[in-house]
Amino acid sequence: MVIITEKELEEIGKFTRKDITEQELYTFPLILCDNEIDRDGEKFTAESLEKLAELFVGKTGIFDHNASSKNQTARIYSAQVREDPSRVTADGETYTWVEAKAYMLRNEKNKDLISEIEAGIKKETSVGCSVKSIRCSVCGKDLRGGACGHIKGKVYNGKICCNLLCEPEDAYEWSFVAVPSQKNAGVIKSFSPGSAGEYESELRSEYISGVIKDFSLLLPGIPHPVLTGVCASANTAALKKLRDYLRDEAAKKSPLFRQLVPDETEETHNYSEFKI
Ligand SMILES: [Zn+2]
Repeated sequence: MVIITEKELEEIGKFTRKDITEQELYTFPLILCDNEIDRDGEKFTAESLEKLAELFVGKTGIFDHNASSKNQTARIYSAQVREDPSRVTADGETYTWVEAKAYMLRNEKNKDLISEIEAGIKKETSVGCSVKSIRCSVCGKDLRGGACGHIKGKVYNGKICCNLLCEPEDAYEWSFVAVPSQKNAGVIKSFSPGSAGEYESELRSEYISGVIKDFSLLLPGIPHPVLTGVCASANTAALKKLRDYLRDEAAKKSPLFRQLVPDETEETHNYSEFKI
């Protein structure tokens, strides 16, 4: 049974009839989006995440996993930006994410879904929003005005080039989708700069991101510029092999790592099941 505090009831009360009781509500935490480079080679800046946390409060989300769930909705009643200092993104920044809390009514229609959420059904969150500009992480150029010449996934001065999603203007929706993937929260963008089909550089970006993540897990303390330097000089096929190998090794080791590094915030991390 999830305890709902007075403060939360008050926050939820802004969106419901005033006399709603704790017994009628079901609340759950979720990760909306983060500052990791996504599969499109794009990422939100820390400032963008702050703005998105504001914009998503009050927005409803849908559950997309089967046809009978179409009418099931939940609404976000609070959201905040959080950081994990022990984890870095592929471009070397502190891992930062928007953590939201959503509520839904405990009624017959939602009964099975609530059981599924409580049982830890694996879900990925996807968000829809618009941003005012998409900038090159290397030179800062607004890419809606045209490409700048820097290539996503390539390393410049020790840092992976990506596109920065800046100045969010509106948040439209969020949803839980069943995606059998290890990716972080998926993000639907309202527009893209339409840069030339840089499929390979996107793949490189994905491989490098995986290599850095798993190398850091297996060999904590290895300097970030050393890793990015090595990745920059490897060809794409070699990167893929390395990524696959490290991923397998990290998967074998990760239960041990969890034991070695006790997670003090374990309780607040019970949303991770929605993210995988
Ligand atoms: Zn650039």
